[in-house]
Amino acid sequence: MTHPEPATARAATSLVEIEDLTKHFPITRGIVIQRQVGAVRAVDGISFTIQRGETLGLVGESGCGKTTAGRTILGLYPATGGAARIEGQDIHSARGSDLLALRRKAQMIFQDPFASLNPRWTVGAIVGEPLRVHKLCHTQAERAARVKELLELVGLSARLINRFPHEFSGGQRQRIGIARALASNPSFIVCDEPISALDVSIQAQVVNLLEDLQDRFGLTYLFIAHDLSMVRHICDRVAVMYLGKLVELAAKDTLYESPRHPYTQALLSAVPVPDPIAERRRRRTILTGDVPSPAHPPSGCHFHTRCPIATEVCSEIEPTWQDIGGGHFVACHHWADGPGRR
Ligand code: SF4
Repeated sequence: MTHPEPATARAATSLVEIEDLTKHFPITRGIVIQRQVGAVRAVDGISFTIQRGETLGLVGESGCGKTTAGRTILGLYPATGGAARIEGQDIHSARGSDLLALRRKAQMIFQDPFASLNPRWTVGAIVGEPLRVHKLCHTQAERAARVKELLELVGLSARLINRFPHEFSGGQRQRIGIARALASNPSFIVCDEPISALDVSIQAQVVNLLEDLQDRFGLTYLFIAHDLSMVRHICDRVAVMYLGKLVELAAKDTLYESPRHPYTQALLSAVPVPDPIAERRRRRTILTGDVPSPAHPPSGCHFHTRCPIATEVCSEIEPTWQDIGGGHFVACHHWADGPGRR
């Protein structure tokens, strides 16, 4: 996949630059001697940039590779190929103090606030861990004071510092996860479906908190989600992923108002519209079948087995990533065919 923006423009303003990033998990057979018989192509050559202070949404169905992409971008999984540069430095080739500095700058908020916090650690130990790892405080007292400050920053009382995760609600636990992510003063945070495990009543509060923190500290987010309505609220641009590849990327209003890829159109057709008249007129595109296995992706366009407008060329030739103007990119042979296909 070619890069979405010219190199000079990218270097000037991008905080994050993902170039042809690939993550394949080997499939092995054999008990004594294991041999590789294939690979799960979870992330298969994705490229995009994120500007400083921007929120880029990454959406797609479960199993499309979004979470693996987020983890590979942060170096939590080694990449099979490509680069994930943060402030110009590739996290996969950095070593020693350079790698530690990148880990400090780039953090993650996890989907499951129940599983992502060590149940045997107090909140003070959990939020204070990045301060210890990155040697950001000189004394225990200094660290405790900073933890209290972080708890208050995310809307929790500093008095809760000695409590354990099980004593908190889901929303409060996610706030603890956010405080932990903020502890090392990062510039970039991957938010991996940070609200999908929370009650609907709590989701907006957590999204508002993330927005406030972004304004206050100039944070840059990669916001992974499958809830397209919330993505529209929080993101500046949105990238759509299907079976390990990006299929469309655009500014949010462009993507929501004139989606060009049939997969994006199908995802958007499932989003309820608040206006009852528009809601009655809404035509749903029901995708048939499941997402194919990333171990055996279909030939040509990976989406051709489910695409309502696929033609012969779709199963034979993989569509290229095309710049169709105005920062709108799409990978589809027939993006320009016919009036709005929704
Ligand atoms: Fe559908 Fe063909 Fe476009 Fe793929 S390339 S999305 S199969 S029309």
